[in-house]
Amino acid sequence: MTVHIPFDNSYARLPDQFFARVQPTRVSAPRLIKLNHDLARQLGLDPEALSGPEAAEIFAGNRIPEGAEPIALAYAGHQFGGFVPQLGDGRAILLGEVVAPDGQRRDIQLKGSGRTPFSRGGDGRAALGPVLREYLVSEAMAALGIPTTRALAAATTGEVVERETSLPGAVLTRIAASHIRIGSFQYFAARGDVEAVRRLADYAIARHYPDAAAASQPYRAFLEGVVARQAQLVAQWLQVGFIHGVMNTDNMSISGETIDYGPCAFIDTYNPTQVFSSIDRHGRYAYGNQPGIAQWNLARLAECLLGLFSDDEDEAIAQANEALTSFADRFNTAYLGGLRRKLGLAEEREEDRALAQDLLERMAANKADFTLTFRRLGDAAADSAADAAVRSLFEDGAAYDGWAGRWRQRLAEEPQDAASRRAAMRRANPAFIPRNHRVEAVIEAAVQREDFGPFEELLTVLSAPYDDQADFAHYADPPPPGGGIYRTFCGT
Ligand code: AMP
Ligand code: MG
Repeated sequence: MTVHIPFDNSYARLPDQFFARVQPTRVSAPRLIKLNHDLARQLGLDPEALSGPEAAEIFAGNRIPEGAEPIALAYAGHQFGGFVPQLGDGRAILLGEVVAPDGQRRDIQLKGSGRTPFSRGGDGRAALGPVLREYLVSEAMAALGIPTTRALAAATTGEVVERETSLPGAVLTRIAASHIRIGSFQYFAARGDVEAVRRLADYAIARHYPDAAAASQPYRAFLEGVVARQAQLVAQWLQVGFIHGVMNTDNMSISGETIDYGPCAFIDTYNPTQVFSSIDRHGRYAYGNQPGIAQWNLARLAECLLGLFSDDEDEAIAQANEALTSFADRFNTAYLGGLRRKLGLAEEREEDRALAQDLLERMAANKADFTLTFRRLGDAAADSAADAAVRSLFEDGAAYDGWAGRWRQRLAEEPQDAASRRAAMRRANPAFIPRNHRVEAVIEAAVQREDFGPFEELLTVLSAPYDDQADFAHYADPPPPGGGIYRTFCGT
């Protein structure tokens, strides 16, 4: 069965300075280790055809499918606050785009497929561990209902990748609404190329914010749209305990999807200052800093667009500021709305934020597991006999009791019946998240023993995060005492 991918490439039609045409590097022994059948179908592709030997060649970069026009995209970015005028796809190659049956245009990109003109000192490769991490975590995010790039396939290459040790090489096939980043705008703005910024903005509007095109000030409407989506996105991250880890401007997608899973991780015990990434020495991208950083990044995007807003600089800055200040409201509304759902509150009250904050502070002081606390609150909302299972998560159970009384009182003032409240809470509070110790164990089995069974099993569990899955209940457990892994490394 031959592979047919109905490419329809639009980015490759943009001016030459937007990308470099480049071929993936050939590898010695391509082997397809995972194909995402559901996603293939969503893209209108035939999973059977994508499972054969030809597919391994394609997903490892040895064979360019008909219609693909491989390019590496140019972008810049602020990395940990410092501006780098040229980054670009140093280890990723965009094969092209497909318009899926749902009408959405999506990028198909190989990550780890060899050097490009943007590789600088890097080898353009990816090791198997980071490929599996991105596969698991991005698919978990999708199942949680959070906008994200997806993983279509993972292939090993037969090559050895040199990091601190020698590691098996792999390629991830990533699907994204697009790969336009805040840093894509910065690349042209840093060169003073206003026409390229305009061209990119027009492209991004057409592809992601078509309503902005009809607004009286399309570029401002575009900025407001990006602000709105990123505010929503970061609120959703916080609600599941996700830490991105490298929220550099080149890792923030204009489409509003989570992108570039490197040293990302989910928190176990609730701690707003939690950091995982080994390179984030000052906690810039700590869990609780993420909204502020998103806003900072959006200000960098706004700076790039100033020249499109108005010829009058003061007027342009005023417009940018208005759009940027909308972030706080949008974030707070999304975040508070999420907390209400997590607590089973159907009505909006002034004191809801204080109620939620009080719980979070008690969780932090008592090292309560974030995911389990909220999941078990669903049972406690329906029956106070279930309180014991929540309070056992707190070092001092009385800290929970002190809060639970207030919460119950509040619930009693709402008309919602217990069964439907519990059902709604279960849809807001996942049982299963990709806990870091599980992800690390899966990677170790694959890398050390070529055993992909644990990867498959964890992926299956994470595909239904809101179901109880009695056979896999242990996957909901926090790490055993001393078994947590709180250092993650970049996916390079
Ligand atoms: P990241 O922090 O992983 O988002 O990557 C930042 C920049 O470094 C991007 O321009 C990447 O393309 C580039 N990069 C990361 N790893 C490699 C690698 N192994 N080879 C070449 N470029 C890389
Ligand atoms: Mg990146």
